[in-house]
Amino acid sequence: MRIALFGDIHANLEALEAVLQDAENQGVTHYVCMGDIVGYNADPAACLEIVRALDCPIVKGNHDEDASGSHSLDSMNPVAAAALEWTRERLTEEQRQWLGRLRMVRQVSDFTVVHSTLDQPAHWNYVTNRFDAMSNFSYQFTQICFHGHTHVPRVYVKSDRVREVPAESVEIETDSKYFINIGSVGQPRDGDWRACYVIYDTDHKIVVFRRIEYDIAKTRQKIMDAGLPEMLAERILEGR
Ligand code: ZN
Repeated sequence: MRIALFGDIHANLEALEAVLQDAENQGVTHYVCMGDIVGYNADPAACLEIVRALDCPIVKGNHDEDASGSHSLDSMNPVAAAALEWTRERLTEEQRQWLGRLRMVRQVSDFTVVHSTLDQPAHWNYVTNRFDAMSNFSYQFTQICFHGHTHVPRVYVKSDRVREVPAESVEIETDSKYFINIGSVGQPRDGDWRACYVIYDTDHKIVVFRRIEYDIAKTRQKIMDAGLPEMLAERILEGR
C-alpha cells in the first residue's frame, strides 16, 4: 500500500492540487491529512472541500481550531491573526463546525498521526530538535508517528538514543522508532518553496519525501487580490 501523508496546506489550492496529482501519478491509493488545512493563503473553502472529499483520516491543526472558533486572536502574531479573521469570514458555519470536530490524534494502520506532538497535542508545541522529539517518543506507542506544524521536514529516529537523520528517503528498521515531520504543502519554511509531502510504502517499509513545483505566481496573485498581508505572498516564494 502506498499512502500519501500531507498537511499544513494553509489554503494554498495550487500547491494542494499539484501534490494530489503527483500522489496519483506515484500510485498512491490512500491519503492521510496532518491538519492546518486553512489559514495564511487565499483558498480556505476550496481546500477544505477537496480534503473533505478524499474521505481520509485527518487530524486537527491549530489554524483549523482557530478558524473554527470565534475566540479572540489577539495573542497571535498579527499576520496570522489577520489571515485567520479573513478565513473565518470565507467559511460557512457548517465548514467551521467540521474543522472544529476534527480529532487531535489518530492511529491509522500501524502508525499514529498528530499535528504537533503526542505528549501534549492541544498545546501545539514545536519540535525543532532531537531534545523536543524525546518527549514525544515517551508517548509514541506505534513504530512510526507522522506530524507537521513547523513546516520543516525532519526525521527523528530512536534506537538506543534519539538522533536526527536527513529528511530524504528513510528505510524503516524493525528495532527503531520514527517521528517524522512531513513538511508543508502550502507554506514550506525550509528555504525551498516547492510543496512538500511524503509517501509511505507499507510493503517496502520506506518513507519518501516529495517536493513538487506548482503555479506559485497564481497563489501569490490571489493573496494580493484578497487583500491578505503582503508578507504572506513574499514568504511562500522564499520558503520561510
Ligand atoms: Zn501550519
